[in-house]
Amino acid sequence: MHAFDYSSKNCWEVYNSNQDETAINQLSARYLDFLGACKTERETVAYVAARLEAAGFSAEGFGSGKGMRNIQGKAIFAAARGGLGLSAGLRIIFAHTDTPRLDLKQRPLQEQSEVAQFKTHYYGGIRKYQWFARPLALHGVIIREDGASVRVTLGEAKGEPVFAISDLLPHLASAQMDQPLRAAFEAEKMNLIIGHKPEPVKKRDERRKKEEQEQNRIKNHILRLLHAKYGIVEEDLYSAELQAVPAGPAVEVGLDGSLLGGYGQDDRINVFLGLEALLASLDGENSHSCCLVFLDKEEIGSEGSTGAKSRFFEYCVQDVIAAFDPGAGFAEVMLASRALSADVHAAVDPDWQDLHEKLNSALLGHGPCFCKFTGSRGKYEANDAHPEYFAWLRGILNKAGIPWQMAELGKVDGGGGGTVAMHFAGYGMNIIDCGPAVLSMHSPFELTSKVDLYATWLAFKTFFSSR
Ligand code: MN
Ligand code: MN
Repeated sequence: MHAFDYSSKNCWEVYNSNQDETAINQLSARYLDFLGACKTERETVAYVAARLEAAGFSAEGFGSGKGMRNIQGKAIFAAARGGLGLSAGLRIIFAHTDTPRLDLKQRPLQEQSEVAQFKTHYYGGIRKYQWFARPLALHGVIIREDGASVRVTLGEAKGEPVFAISDLLPHLASAQMDQPLRAAFEAEKMNLIIGHKPEPVKKRDERRKKEEQEQNRIKNHILRLLHAKYGIVEEDLYSAELQAVPAGPAVEVGLDGSLLGGYGQDDRINVFLGLEALLASLDGENSHSCCLVFLDKEEIGSEGSTGAKSRFFEYCVQDVIAAFDPGAGFAEVMLASRALSADVHAAVDPDWQDLHEKLNSALLGHGPCFCKFTGSRGKYEANDAHPEYFAWLRGILNKAGIPWQMAELGKVDGGGGGTVAMHFAGYGMNIIDCGPAVLSMHSPFELTSKVDLYATWLAFKTFFSSR
């Protein structure tokens, strides 16, 4: 019997065999390990590069047919040659490596009221109140004047101290309770507590104690500890990128363990899935050459040398053309290319259903979510994917029996957001946003569905391998 109407499917009903369950759990376990370990752009790119290298990708160019290149260790491009020439176009999955967080200021260290703190400057769209009174870790790099790069990961290892931003006690919060949310939490009060123990005073200096107390003895103690651990002085922090991120591992959520909880799933879930899809496709002799492009700075407008607006992608494609198919023209390759802007979508929040328009919203567990356009309020700043392209995409997924859904980000006048799609649509390639739905997006603990992870992985593999 043929149904004339359409409704999306719950993937748990589709992938319900013991074999499916094993595959879902294996993929989820690998993902949770990745998500718990990679909390910065650099950590994410290093993970991707290591997995690619193990699969035979060269960092020295594309001559072998499998190559990769990174820029500043924050964005990475990889390509695998297919059977067809490049005039047939590339198959590309774009995703982003950066995540909303609290960056340390360039001069972060201060002492007030006998407490040492690191001052922060938030990065991307955070809801400030979510970052108070919770364990935070510090990740990043400090570049010394001699060029040496000091890698920092503090607050993750078992037994290692974490950091925290203090929150106001309810007893003193009555004035704050009357403020609008936007005003209630000030960025300049988002200071990370990093210690409160004064530098020891030597016996013979006892008489200088009072004077020294006025001279930041707690701050000085922190500097002494940093020097002992990393060989750095305060000035080195000016050439550092340190990020405060939620501490701890990514975990299963729910009595049935059906959800995945952790920081940075927007958009590391798609970095992981794009990578896993390419690695799983390598033996299948793809007809098209396939690329991964994982970019930085998406959360703050895709700017800079590592973001989607940079020329990095173009430089890499020119090298791929020279190595794979020197006769192909750049414009010819771009115009024939098909791409997914792999990014997460907002799932309908059971407690905030009224903010979504039900016919055009994504459900957790209903598979990869396509978004024809992003932008806001009248499709401003949107890529608007072509229907011819989406017709091909739903065709290949339907043929493979992979559930999918399509949605807009909330009600029309309700908000919106952007992705990297529009920056690459400008090259003439076909591109559409696609990725798993997320609850609590941009929070320190985002939620996704295990079965969406699996279905999206299958969809990405199908995208790479379909003619
Ligand atoms: Mn994103
Ligand atoms: Mn985002």
